[in-house]
Amino acid sequence: QDSFETDSDTGDLNEIEQLDKEHVFGTWSYQKEVQPTQVVDADGVRFTDADGNDFIDFSSQLMCSNLGHSAEKVEEAIAEQASKVGYVAPSYTTEVRAKLGQKLAEVTPGDLSKTFFSTSGTEAVEAAIKIARFYTGKQKIISRYRSYHGATYGSISVTGDPRRLESEPGIPGTIKAPDPYAYGSTLDPMESLEYIDEMLELEGNTVAAVLVEPIVGSNGILVPPDEYLPRLKEIAHDHGALLICDEVMAGFGRTGEWFGCDVFDVEPDIMTMAKGLTGAYQPLGATIVNSEIAEHFDENMFCHGHTYAGHPVAVAAGLATIETYQEENLIERANEIGKYLGAQIDKLAEKHPSVGETRGVGLFRGIELTKHSEKRVPFGEREDKINPGSTVVDEVSATAYESGTYVANMINTLIIAPPLTITKDEIDEAINAIDVGLDVSD
Ligand code: PLP
Repeated sequence: QDSFETDSDTGDLNEIEQLDKEHVFGTWSYQKEVQPTQVVDADGVRFTDADGNDFIDFSSQLMCSNLGHSAEKVEEAIAEQASKVGYVAPSYTTEVRAKLGQKLAEVTPGDLSKTFFSTSGTEAVEAAIKIARFYTGKQKIISRYRSYHGATYGSISVTGDPRRLESEPGIPGTIKAPDPYAYGSTLDPMESLEYIDEMLELEGNTVAAVLVEPIVGSNGILVPPDEYLPRLKEIAHDHGALLICDEVMAGFGRTGEWFGCDVFDVEPDIMTMAKGLTGAYQPLGATIVNSEIAEHFDENMFCHGHTYAGHPVAVAAGLATIETYQEENLIERANEIGKYLGAQIDKLAEKHPSVGETRGVGLFRGIELTKHSEKRVPFGEREDKINPGSTVVDEVSATAYESGTYVANMINTLIIAPPLTITKDEIDEAINAIDVGLDVSD
């Protein structure tokens, strides 16, 4: 996931950073290029490095610290649970696990009602793939090119972006489809959907599930037309395939709704969650299924599990996080303040010729850069294997960072996803830093 890192900090490493570089693998990187920055404090929407510089966290780290860095209720729940029952095996339960299961059934759409807990988005997707295969008795999974679903062999095999390439051929039975990406694809989003219909037809009755991010996250914040997701569900079901929505990044208020699929009023058969589930205070993944799929496993073995499935401290964090979203009306708040954010981003687009397209909803927004706005020419060559076209957008992020704002980027696009608690003043401050950054690409 560190393909999102900003690389402005190329100066000397302090003692801790040097120790870390020597003994800890940097993720998704050539190890010689890893430049870890020590973070010594994090408060509200800001974090502070060892030199005392602080930064607005305009991407919620990896689009996961949805509550910012001062969520007291979550911090207390973690401490309390750790001292009460720090761990028991998944065959036992705890009050927090049962209540989080119930809570997820409440906040997810419709009939989604039974959850498998794991420790990451990757594992949530891995479980979804297995459940779909066990339930349908079919093996194939259709996913899309502009997608990221995780790093283990199953989840990287259904991932479409270049991060998959080093792990290919991956698991058998994964097929990629085109994307609803009006700006950068030759296919219109609804045409891309008809293409999936045809793929399902041609695959015969062998596809277990179609797996999508309802609003694509790290691959550029792609928001499909309103009709897209409802029609995709119809197409999948017509061919006996399930619809899996990967809500790992879009979930928990990011879009101004609880989940990305709520934006389109669609209830998937299986949904995956992580990141905002605990506001990233604890590693926790979740895979929720509808009651029909749940009941299937009454008579058929659920052949899957982890030592840390439903870890008490992690689920305690999850429960406290969801209660915080509810008590502080953060989902509605994201919707409201997201409109302000969108308006400020549009002003940047008017001012800077290198802004090709702005996309997004709520507090989930992207700025795609272009070398030539008429012709939609992306910056950069494919010299960075896992983040093609990253050269210029990296410089924009690095310049914004020097101006006090951390903003992630991926494939020529700035990924703007601040904590749901951010204020208008803080948005203005971060937008000003990006404004300075975009001077580099103009
Ligand atoms: N699915 C989506 C949509 C994601 O954005 C990510 C991570 O960014 C994952 C799955 C994998 O989650 P994790 O990094 O927690 O394993």
